[in-house]
Parts: sequence; C-alpha cells; structure tokens
Amino acid sequence: MNPSKRITLAIQSKGRLFDDSVSLLKASGLDFRFADGQLRSPVRNYPIDLIRVRNDDIPTLLEKQVVDIGIVGENTLIEKQVCNEGVEVLSKLNFGACELCIAVPEASAYSGPADLDGVRIATSYPNTLADFMRRNSIDYSAVQLSGSIEVAPGAGLADAVCDLVSTGGTLRANGLRAVETIATSEAVLACRRGGLELEQQKSVDRLIDRFNGVKQAQETKYIMLHAPTGAVEDIAAIIPSAETPTVLELSGGSSQVAVHAVCNEPVFWDTMETLRSKGATSILVLPIEKMLE
Ligand code: AMP
Repeated sequence: MNPSKRITLAIQSKGRLFDDSVSLLKASGLDFRFADGQLRSPVRNYPIDLIRVRNDDIPTLLEKQVVDIGIVGENTLIEKQVCNEGVEVLSKLNFGACELCIAVPEASAYSGPADLDGVRIATSYPNTLADFMRRNSIDYSAVQLSGSIEVAPGAGLADAVCDLVSTGGTLRANGLRAVETIATSEAVLACRRGGLELEQQKSVDRLIDRFNGVKQAQETKYIMLHAPTGAVEDIAAIIPSAETPTVLELSGGSSQVAVHAVCNEPVFWDTMETLRSKGATSILVLPIEKMLE
C-alpha cells in the first residue's frame, strides 16, 4: 500500500465518544491497538492511521485538512460552524445521541423564547445559542463556561443554562428543566468536502458500508422456530418486519416446518408469546454479528 494513500482518522482521545468509536471500528474489522499513552495507531489491515485528539479540536483539524476524516459529535461541528467551511457529514453513527437544550430552574414559569429576554445563560456552546437567539430576536447575555454548566444557576452565575442533555438526569439533579431544544446531535463520520483522493474515497466508502453493516446487525435479530405446516402464514405475519421467511422441512415426515427469518427490529417477549399461542415451538432469537447487503 502506498503510504501517501493512507487516511488519517481522528477520534476523541477520551470521554463519552471514545469507547463507542473504538467498538464501532473494531466491529468493522479494523485491527489496531493504542499502546499505553499513545495517541496514534496504524490500522494493520486497512489503509487508515488513527489519531486520538480532543473532540472539540476535530472540526478544526478536518477544516484545515490536518486529518482526513473524523468521528465527532455533530453538535461540535455545528458549534464550530465548519459546515460552511467545507466540512461535511458522511454518515451518522447511531451513538452519542444528545440534544442541546436551554434549561431553566424547575420553579420558573416558561411560555416561550420571549421569556429569555434579558436572561443570563451559561453555556459552552455560545455560537449555537447565539444563532437560536438571533433567529428568535432575543436579547440575552451569555456566560461562557467550559464545564459543570448545570451548577451555574444555583451558584448565582446565570439564570438559565444551554447544555447537552441525553437522559436529563443531570438537569433534574440540579433542579433544572429543559424548555427549548436548539440542536440534536449524534456521533458522525465527517470529512472535508473534496479532501480525499479517489483511492482514499473508495476506502472511506467501504468503511461506511461496514459501519452500516454493524448498525444494521445491531438492530436486527435472527429468529428460528418450529411451526405447524398449516400455521406458517399466520406465524410469518407476526414476526416483526421480517424479510420473506425461509421455510424448511423437518426430517422424519414431521407435520411441522422450521421457519427462519431476519427481523429488522427487536423481538420482544410478548411477540414470542404470541408466536407460541399460534402454535410455534422451539423459538430462538439470535443476534446477528455482521451483515452486508
Ligand atoms: P465529552 O468530551 O466526554 O464531554 O463528550 C463530548 C461529546 O459527547 C459531545 O460533544 C456530544 O456529542 C456527546 N454527548 C452525548 N451525550 C452527552 C451529554 N449528555 N453531555 C455531553 N456530551 C454528550
């Protein structure tokens, strides 16, 4: 492999997105290992070199083409406003989901953005907040903090906060409630538009195919059961969003057949109980490890 055609992929060095980024890359067949304290690792079986950096730096590194592609929270791309500078999202990755919300103390009345007029808002996302406020013609003052935003109202530093929320637990624990969602986000694979050579683009497309295969495999299950021959149609109709099931004869002239199907959504216990009530037996639901269509 010509080394110049290798791709540099930035991932978060530590923090919320790191473990899922590594799991996705490994599940996609990439063979690498970060030695203790090392920030770079070549992928042994794919023309990619991994580099661990701060999540917040990834947009700039992409924009300046210091790295070719990056796994980053979409909220960071929005905040750094790099999409206007040619950075584009290639694929959403199905983890790191969160919302950027404005939250106020639980006891405060709130009927709409106009209630934020003159309010002090603590945030680490001043640009995204400013954009929302500009669109709603609200005058406010931003209190820029880099962490522990939720404590600002209790400490008398601000009247409201604008922060990332996933479960809402941190807001509740600090006596706050979300009143506006100003952006939604998940981890994405991003690159600089036109920044890849043809050969690199092909490798990235192949990687995205694998990502999609991993995502699909996580969302799908393989179901196997035995069914009375006369009940196959009824039973197949209950299997959740199954492609055409495979029906196989059982040996020994049985009046039963085996039904196998890929389900494109989870199979819950109540679905299995309904299948059993229609005569299905030996119902097995299996995870799918990999999938390529
Ligand atoms: P970290 O560097 O560990 O703070 O992780 C930052 C990234 O994780 C953010 O830019 C988001 O894309 C993502 N994320 C997902 N849920 C949350 C959350 N509840 N709070 C902060 N970041 C989150």
